[in-house]
Amino acid sequence: MQNSDLKKCPFCQEEIISTAIKCKHCGSILTELSQKETAMNTNVKNIFSIAAVVLGGISIIFPVIISWLTAITGIVMGAIALVRKENKKLSYIGLFLSIVALLLVLKSCADVGKELSRF
Ligand SMILES: [Zn+2]
Repeated sequence: MQNSDLKKCPFCQEEIISTAIKCKHCGSILTELSQKETAMNTNVKNIFSIAAVVLGGISIIFPVIISWLTAITGIVMGAIALVRKENKKLSYIGLFLSIVALLLVLKSCADVGKELSRF
């Protein structure tokens, strides 16, 4: 079977035959109508993982003190995304970016603390 004969089930992300009208993994009906609905809902469905990526990215790009807030929010969003079984890749990227951002913020706070403790 060629790869082109496979597609991802929009509901469970498992690979299924592209002509299947019912997913063998989760039992979802894959009619054209539900595919269109799913396409429209994909962005809404992945809203938390997208938010996590955006927040994590912002926190890294702008590593100011306030970004611990966006970083933690990003981690929370990423965790919610995982619980909601959103797009795994996006969720993990969001979590990763947010955690890295938080570590960067903590490090810069520690540096500031060291600077201050010299006086
Ligand atoms: Zn499925």
